[in-house]
Amino acid sequence: MANNPYESAMTQLKRAAKIINLEPYILDILKRPVRILETGIPVKMDDGSTKIFQAYRVQYNDARGPFKGGIRFHPSADLDEVKALAFWMVIKCAVVNVPFGGSKGGITVEPKSLSLRELQQLSRGWVRAFARYLGPKKDVPAPDVYTNPTIMGWMADEFGQVAGEWQPAAFTGKPIALGGSQGRTEATGHGGFLVVEALIKKLNLNKERTTVAVQGFGNVGFYVAKKLHDAGYSVIALSDSKGGILDKRNHGMDPENVMRSKKEKGLIGGCYCAGMVCDCENYQKISNAELLEMEVDILIPAALENVITAENAGRIKAKAIVEMANGPTTPEADEILRQKKIVVVPDVLANAGGVTVSYFEWVQNNTGEAWKRAEVLDKLKPIMENSFEEIWGVSIEKKIDLRTAAFALALQRIAEAIKARGL
Ligand code: NAD
Repeated sequence: MANNPYESAMTQLKRAAKIINLEPYILDILKRPVRILETGIPVKMDDGSTKIFQAYRVQYNDARGPFKGGIRFHPSADLDEVKALAFWMVIKCAVVNVPFGGSKGGITVEPKSLSLRELQQLSRGWVRAFARYLGPKKDVPAPDVYTNPTIMGWMADEFGQVAGEWQPAAFTGKPIALGGSQGRTEATGHGGFLVVEALIKKLNLNKERTTVAVQGFGNVGFYVAKKLHDAGYSVIALSDSKGGILDKRNHGMDPENVMRSKKEKGLIGGCYCAGMVCDCENYQKISNAELLEMEVDILIPAALENVITAENAGRIKAKAIVEMANGPTTPEADEILRQKKIVVVPDVLANAGGVTVSYFEWVQNNTGEAWKRAEVLDKLKPIMENSFEEIWGVSIEKKIDLRTAAFALALQRIAEAIKARGL
């Protein structure tokens, strides 16, 4: 299969392992997950039929703490994708030094085709199928593509019913009413914003003159675009699964207005609309492929994996790429970007704000505390900034790219935990 994300993940692992002379037995441990769970979930559909949905949970490594990772509902979710995402969670938690291992879950489904009742049945079915392997000290799921706090609320409720007691720390990304953390929804985007702020200092860019293009307008893409716009960056292109828009004047657009127009009209492509006022003269419809190749300072893929490949990497004109999606760049594309001297801030650092605030949520649930939003974002800031500095430092010291530096740092931490546990 072309651009298999698990093969990409293993290529990244081997590259970093070589640079730090990782002991062969540790590399062998990390070449496979601890546990793969898969099943079919039956759902009684609204039309009376019963449909079976393919579901996964991959628990990759728990040397540093309980397994931790989101659940994706997507038509192309398959085992190799879930394995890759689970592996990247292991690396990511070690990059920001939160005491978790890594896991990931998925269901092969087009969630937009389900009614709310069917979606809830499916979400509860996933929990019933894997409940014995989940829990605050075992494995803690969270939202990912096409899952959200509402779904986490249903799942946490189902887990409580199966376990016989309410255990809020078993899921993160929950609604606030069920013990969710303030700031969790915006956390991944906020973390990405902090990374961009640190990056432009290193690149000597001025934010008022820095242009940004963001692919993906979901939880992650929206918040990172909004925070950059609010801070004075020019967000000149945005897209979702149906296409995108480009601000031809390089002025930058307000993601809140674009979101309003998307909600009203169901599309962000075509024109730029603030309320009912649409400007089709200064804003141009573009495709997702065009967005990636635009002349901007910072390109932010925030949708799905494998969008920057050997086929299009040579045409990318951005000075830097900040990977908010997981796995957007294939190893072949990475090599081309390295040759072109395009700085790539890897996913395992750029989008780690989400799991960091999930960790804060888990801590609050375990201690019965409820922190204010400002406190949460204040605690996130030094973690993102210090992680960025550490990885930048390793990259300079070892003369390696930022991804390999992030993996090298993470692998050292994971290896230390594996060794400390003994054999
Ligand atoms: P989401 O479901 O909220 O949004 C996904 C967005 O991607 C939507 O706007 C959708 O229209 C768009 N999209 C889907 N297919 C597309 C395509 N082919 N081209 C362009 N856009 C497309 O999901 P999310 O939570 O924002 O996740 C986005 C990425 O960020 C994923 O790679 C996810 O793994 C990663 N991530 C999410 C979190 C989190 O906290 N939610 C944390 C870390 C990483």
